[in-house]
Amino acid sequence: MNLNIPYHLENYIGGLFIGPLSGQFIDGINPATGEVFCQVPDSKEKDIELAVNAAKKVYPQWSVTPAEERFKILNRIATLIDENLDELALAETTDNGKPLWLSKRVDIPRASANFRFFATGIMHFAAESHTMEDKAINYTIRQPIGVVGCISPWNLPLYLFTWKIAPALAAGNCVIAKPSEVTPVTAFLLGKICKEAGLPEGVLNIVHGKGDTTGEAIIKHPSIKAISFTGSTKAGARIASIAAPVFKKLSLELGGKNPNIIFADCNWDKMMKTTIQSSFSNQGQICLCGSRILIEESVYEQFKSEFVEKVKKLTVGDPLNESSKQGALVSKQHFDKVKAAIETAKEEGGNILCGGNVVKLNDRCANGFFIEPTVIEGLGCECKTNTEEIFGPVVTLQKFKTEEEALALANACAYGLSATIWTQDISKANRVASKVEAGIIWVNCWLLRDLRTPFGGIKNSGVGREGGWEALRFFTEAKNVCVEI
Ligand code: NAD
Repeated sequence: MNLNIPYHLENYIGGLFIGPLSGQFIDGINPATGEVFCQVPDSKEKDIELAVNAAKKVYPQWSVTPAEERFKILNRIATLIDENLDELALAETTDNGKPLWLSKRVDIPRASANFRFFATGIMHFAAESHTMEDKAINYTIRQPIGVVGCISPWNLPLYLFTWKIAPALAAGNCVIAKPSEVTPVTAFLLGKICKEAGLPEGVLNIVHGKGDTTGEAIIKHPSIKAISFTGSTKAGARIASIAAPVFKKLSLELGGKNPNIIFADCNWDKMMKTTIQSSFSNQGQICLCGSRILIEESVYEQFKSEFVEKVKKLTVGDPLNESSKQGALVSKQHFDKVKAAIETAKEEGGNILCGGNVVKLNDRCANGFFIEPTVIEGLGCECKTNTEEIFGPVVTLQKFKTEEEALALANACAYGLSATIWTQDISKANRVASKVEAGIIWVNCWLLRDLRTPFGGIKNSGVGREGGWEALRFFTEAKNVCVEI
């Protein structure tokens, strides 16, 4: 299969690759070099209209396609993703700036896993039945919703795009999907894969463009009945304000500011190794990264010196080099935002223990967007640095004396996506896990994912859950039929 990146990307509508009707494009920039490497369709309402019409045309056929058939097609998509791993990983890294080894080991394999997981999932999906003794029997039918919208962010481009599309398609919906305009390339290539896999024309439509235009056209379209969105809390609030008054089904996976709670009795070496990863993987641009590290006072100084020493050794470099632990930040705009957040931390009185500077590389990466992994201490839980999402290679250290104090610090934040707890005392772990205000808790591990588990946040981190049956339930409407005996 030829998966080279063309200079002009196209929308994938009704099984065809076509340019935006306006003829307008946005620059696609390689963040490791700062150079334009492709043009992204700047789609508008008319492009969405075209996509919705294509989806509506095929929906009557796709919605009754037997689950076995949907399984086969989605499984073929998964296989084709695996077969094109190298091309897809290179495209992801060029578009996003993450190390190539990370795209190869995590992003692309997870995209195929998403398709395979929901392909098999739909073969086992079942609905409930409730018997009322000798009076009646109720049975629930779960039917596809119709045409649904899936909108995803730039941090894990193909990984999160497919996490939404796969369950939507498996459940029998037709999809209008928009990847981030910052990282659209692997979504474009996925269109080619879906075509080769034999997905009927119009079942999946991939439309590129900006959030406030293309994205909002999806949210506002009256024929799109459900929206699955992953992105910032600000955009989530805007989307809810449009979709809620017209009663669209909504799943919102939003920002985070996750606590990483370290008790003195933890398995130290494992905690240290994992905490480096949970702080700086993907340049800290994972919604599940632990950006607020809370450490029991008795081991605070020991933690600080060992952690800082290890962070200083993380090589920031060309994402194509196997030795680069850290790649580029995703865009100039985000690079500026992270730099500004570091300045704010200084103004708030934070002490920069390491990092805090822009990294200037040579050769092809001379104009890339690189920042040193940064560790900050000395700030209280109420300051901006500890309450607002930075979403970059920046973590703070805070100390606590007691379990109650750890919980108070962990919960002193408007977000509630995930938390990590490090202790060998299983009762303490269970107690803290039940009281931390977050939707996803890891004890003595991080980012260990079973795709069957409910995934999502509370508070300002979102509404609804993805994963497993939760996703298939979201993408179906339950209808109860009560039959008198
Ligand atoms: P973003 O909100 O700017 O954009 C996300 C997507 O939404 C993009 O495709 C964008 O074009 C689109 N969009 C933006 N405004 C829109 C609008 N008004 N209507 C419709 N679509 C709109 O977020 P981002 O900067 O791409 O991603 C980073 C954010 O995503 C961070 O806050 C991060 O925490 C969050 N995130 C959350 C999860 C999770 O599972 N909870 C996972 C990954 C990222």
